[in-house]
Amino acid sequence: DAVVHWFKMDLRLWDNTALAHAGEVAKKAGVPLICMYLVSPQDFEAHLRAPVRIDFMLRTLAVLRQDLAKLDIPLHVETVEKRNQIPDRILELMDEWGASHLFANMEYEADELRRERHLVRHLSGKGKSFEVVHDTCVVPPGRLQTGSGKQYAVYTPWYRSWVAYIHENLDLLEQFEPPGRNPESARNKFGHLFDCPIPGAPKNKALCDEEKRRYQKLWPCGEHEAVKRLESFCQERIGGYSDARNIPAGNGTSCLSVHLASGTISARTCVRTARDRNKTKRLNGGNNGIVTWISEVAWRDFYRHVLVNWPYVCMNKPFKPEYSNIAWSYNEEHFVAWCEGKTGFPFVDAAMRQLSNIGYMHNRCRMIAACFLAKDLLIDWRKGERYFMEHLIDGDFASNNGGWGFSASVGVDPQPYFRIFNPLLQSEKFDPNGEYIRKWVPELAGIEGKAIHDPYNRGAGDEARRTGYPRPIVEHKACRERALRAYKQGLENA
Ligand code: FAD
Repeated sequence: DAVVHWFKMDLRLWDNTALAHAGEVAKKAGVPLICMYLVSPQDFEAHLRAPVRIDFMLRTLAVLRQDLAKLDIPLHVETVEKRNQIPDRILELMDEWGASHLFANMEYEADELRRERHLVRHLSGKGKSFEVVHDTCVVPPGRLQTGSGKQYAVYTPWYRSWVAYIHENLDLLEQFEPPGRNPESARNKFGHLFDCPIPGAPKNKALCDEEKRRYQKLWPCGEHEAVKRLESFCQERIGGYSDARNIPAGNGTSCLSVHLASGTISARTCVRTARDRNKTKRLNGGNNGIVTWISEVAWRDFYRHVLVNWPYVCMNKPFKPEYSNIAWSYNEEHFVAWCEGKTGFPFVDAAMRQLSNIGYMHNRCRMIAACFLAKDLLIDWRKGERYFMEHLIDGDFASNNGGWGFSASVGVDPQPYFRIFNPLLQSEKFDPNGEYIRKWVPELAGIEGKAIHDPYNRGAGDEARRTGYPRPIVEHKACRERALRAYKQGLENA
């Protein structure tokens, strides 16, 4: 007999709810624990998984396998071409291993919930159990309600209730230990699982060798890296987070989203570690940087709760249905210019080039680039949402969808639609010396002073032209008026 843990977006040993449960059951029953990961190319397609994100995940599997092997636990990894074959393949594997218990952490996207529901029935019909548990949020979805018993659709009251709930249920922050060493028999019985190769990425999602090397250096993977990053962020930078977090040229944020997306660290561990550094030992009150950082990690929970409560956001629909009727512009040239970072708005271009170069974009820049697409270019926000998912190493459906909904004013608790960032003012405010622009738009590096924010209109046109940097593809003031009209008209047509 054996117990199986199915890894998905939880690629870590420490503080992994389902893995800890699986380990306990195996220990009690005195049987081996087997771990598995199923690579699903169709899921990569359906979820627009970025090649850099797949590469990060595959590299992480190799680390995970080594760590598990030290506990004498095998990690079986295989590719299942069609996603509807996954339930049957799991059943086959369980039969092969003589396993009757399967554990996994829950994923809240509509497709995944449907799959899990099906699998519970499928396995129980064959005399096997499948236990799916909450893990990815600090507070599981469904626990928080307004005074009148409704779901929160506004962040601030939700956040107050989130903090209060955790303070009343401190066990939510407790850490799960990794499973214990497997009985010696695991290697004898399942030795072949310890060295089956980890598959490569599907062809259409593979990085070339140069990219692989570059990303490996840029984004070291695995849970040890994640913990190291969290510890050093908490020791060195969290105190200054509230001031530093909006300056994209700096190093003010944690970059832990990359790890949270693949589950190499849990949100619980992030919140607990930060809280423990707060003298008050609370989530709110005390060090401003710590409190602000925890409230940002809370946004991640918030958007997952929204997904569970309003699953239609997974189906290409805006959270606010009244924004379904905006007459978007379908200017493909503008869209391509935005994707390539050639809009002639240096700050927006720097943001988009940061994304294509390193698979990551600073939060402030995500908001500005998204607002620029939806409002200045009046291009359907869903095209941008998709493009981000296809390129982000931290691509995460709930947070990305939430961020786009916020920036395009169609989501849950969004910016009001008439709030339209002026990309030039944002540039001056958050990149006052143009460091971020100079880094990511190197052809402008020689432009001095404030002209960097808008070279063609600030006396550096000749220089910009010489480098081939494009003129602004639109005029912000006119676009602003157009967006206001389109949003208003859309609302009237609703
Ligand atoms: P820190 O500032 O160190 O924050 C710590 C953690 O809190 C982050 O790692 C993240 O898990 C969470 N967090 C912070 N801000 C937010 C937020 N606004 N929404 C949700 N969680 C947040 N985040 C993703 O993880 N994946 C995405 O695909 C994604 N797409 C986005 C798209 C848009 C248009 C916008 C505006 C935001 C998006 N975000 C996304 C949220 C945010 O930009 C990133 O989480 C953040 O930039 C990650 O950097 P960090 O880890 O250094 O963040």
